[in-house]
Amino acid sequence: MRTSIATVSLSGALTEKLTAAARAGFDGVEIFENDLLASPLSPEEIRARCADLGLSIDLYQPMRDIEAVPSDEFGRNLRRAEHKFRLMRRLGVDTVLVCSSVSPLAVDDDALAAFHLRRLAELAQDFGIRVAYEALAWGRHVSTYDHAWRIVEAADHPALGTCLDSFHILARGSDPKGIEDIPGEKIFFLQLADAPLMAMDVLQWSRHYRCFPGQGGFDVAGLVGHVMRAGYRGPLSLEVFNDVFRQAEAGPTAVDALRSLLVLQESVGLTEPPAPVVPTGIAFAELVTPDVEPVSEVLEALGFARTARHRSKPVDLWQQGEARVLLNTGPAARRDGTGLAAVGLESPDPAGAARRAESLLAPVLPRRRAPEDAPLDAVAAPDGTGLFFCATDRPELPSWTSDFEPVAHKSPTSDGIYRIDHLALTQPWHQFDEAALFHRSVLGLGAQESVDVADPYGLLRSRAVTNADGSVRIALGVGPAPTADQGGRAQHIALATDDLVTAARRFRDAGGCLLPISANYYDDLAAKYEFTDDELETYRELGILYDRDADGAFRHCYTETIGRVFFELVQRDAGYRGYGAQNAPVRLAAQHIRRPVH
Ligand code: MG
Ligand code: MG
Repeated sequence: MRTSIATVSLSGALTEKLTAAARAGFDGVEIFENDLLASPLSPEEIRARCADLGLSIDLYQPMRDIEAVPSDEFGRNLRRAEHKFRLMRRLGVDTVLVCSSVSPLAVDDDALAAFHLRRLAELAQDFGIRVAYEALAWGRHVSTYDHAWRIVEAADHPALGTCLDSFHILARGSDPKGIEDIPGEKIFFLQLADAPLMAMDVLQWSRHYRCFPGQGGFDVAGLVGHVMRAGYRGPLSLEVFNDVFRQAEAGPTAVDALRSLLVLQESVGLTEPPAPVVPTGIAFAELVTPDVEPVSEVLEALGFARTARHRSKPVDLWQQGEARVLLNTGPAARRDGTGLAAVGLESPDPAGAARRAESLLAPVLPRRRAPEDAPLDAVAAPDGTGLFFCATDRPELPSWTSDFEPVAHKSPTSDGIYRIDHLALTQPWHQFDEAALFHRSVLGLGAQESVDVADPYGLLRSRAVTNADGSVRIALGVGPAPTADQGGRAQHIALATDDLVTAARRFRDAGGCLLPISANYYDDLAAKYEFTDDELETYRELGILYDRDADGAFRHCYTETIGRVFFELVQRDAGYRGYGAQNAPVRLAAQHIRRPVH
């Protein structure tokens, strides 16, 4: 199917929007009238720009408050329409969106509405233009797609059809099955948007919270299925009004937008991209640091040993059990300071995973970082984190570890930590929904519920993605970014242990610094759960936090933050699926108090 995007969905001036849409790979655009009005380019120049970029102009929108009004008013509306039809000829676009009237002058009279739309269509036909009539969910008298279609059917003119908009249909709670009763050739246009499920005024909901398909709570794919079965063959076009996208950079938003359409087409069987290859574990987490000492000290205190060094690069492998941390002191570290730069995902088919990612527009990273390195399949996540699809010591596949040479006589000083439990990746504030869609669609991970957490700088949203057995867990977070002297927004690496108290003690006794937690927290814990005094005292002493769900308990504590990263030690009962979210405000407040002072 051809893909299109309304210019209103992207930020910037019209030419920037067009460039972003074309670069992402869209076939066409809907020109939003306000974008044209604000542009210094003439309609002919906009037409030429689109042609240069290889974009068709699929729709001009919107024309408002046309139908079912007093006749003198309708006369003025026809005059206005004629102006717009001339403009559309100059632009080279043949379909106009007319949305159902919200005018206080409009009357509740379907026959009159049909009569007026027929008159409009007759005029449009003289200009070689088609009119697509759309029911706004807040239209004064016409607010559902089936009502709009009844009027179009009654008007019975070849230049008049309907425009379906998934937001208006699903926000009204209409049953989209009835779409199949509309002849496909009378569906002139299909606009797609998703939205989070919210109880709010539908106009505000539409103007501020629309999102790309797959990012919200609507069954957009189900709706598209009905539209296809009706016989629609026009473009799939995104029309998303969203406060966040309006402020985010147009280029990345356009890529995320197109990815959502690619995933949508796959889910309704229109395309067959390479299947997702679900990762089966976390092979490594790669930290970059300009200052190797503090990170090494923490890793050592945690019981890790530096077991190997990369043959050609300043990268060390630190290991304990199946938990592996790469410490990279290369150029990126000097630029960005200490942080989490890349994640190695254990993959049953690394090349297949990369093909899947590439087909869904993930930027592919160079396969070899140096000529002698083993080829590694890697892509960049929306936040820039490198995702390496790799195999660790599996005979049938080349192992990334073959690039490393063992360091003599080093073995971990502890066996208390056995793997990485989860990684917490902070997302730029405007990329939260895209990040969740990316990790779900590209990696084939399942998304858990989104949770809101209060922190001293505002509200933090967090959503985890995970594979079926929980061997890959990534917590995606977004929130107000504290400034650098507030410590910045940190990422973290959570390490799994079966005996948290012993692991935390060992870390502290080896000189490690655990994040102290307020005494009030432990008073609250004593009220909520039946701990012995000894247990509670131990938790207080080590800064151990506690959570429980129906299936088990979760105990966790934190190291102090180095640069933009810290470690978490976690002891998770098999059934517990969370991340201690209810403790996050306590942890965030403790980190706020302990932030580095400059
Ligand atoms: Mg619309
Ligand atoms: Mg965590």
